[in-house]
Amino acid sequence: MIYLTKNPKETRELADFLLKKFLKVKRKKAAVIALEGELGAGKTVFVRGLARALGIKVKIKSPTFTLMKSYKLQAASYKFMHHLDCYRLRDYRDLKVLGIEEILNNSSNIVVIEWSDRVEEILPEKCLKIHIDHVSQSERKILKT
Ligand code: ADP
Ligand code: MG
Repeated sequence: MIYLTKNPKETRELADFLLKKFLKVKRKKAAVIALEGELGAGKTVFVRGLARALGIKVKIKSPTFTLMKSYKLQAASYKFMHHLDCYRLRDYRDLKVLGIEEILNNSSNIVVIEWSDRVEEILPEKCLKIHIDHVSQSERKILKT
């Protein structure tokens, strides 16, 4: 499915909409949202929409240097949103120090991964995969596969 957004607010609203649909399906493992797209495409803006939808009140920043940031959720069915930014990684093996396998195996986690194409090996088959492309300064094409 392809969506077109005209500003960051529309991208955040789309994130909210797609997340709610995605989370309707209950899983045995973590719910993974995989984000692709070049620098400035709007991946972090999309994550802000996810965070808002999950009731997170603090401002989300891309954890480019910290690799992962975790947010405690008040929602009943999920306990944490973990936000990863893989821009600086060589490959998925760099995620081992975070205990990524345990995180992905736990169904109370929502795991959001920017630059997910760099760690394709760890993505579950049924993740919500989003690719964002520039159209113009304030328009983005958002592809959900
Ligand atoms: P990324 O995380 O992919 O590197 P960011 O989300 O940090 O990108 O930055 C996206 C930038 O593009 C922000 O400055 C945002 O305001 C701007 N922007 C303009 N139009 C849009 C849109 N339709 N959707 C998302 N971001 C947009
Ligand atoms: Mg980012």
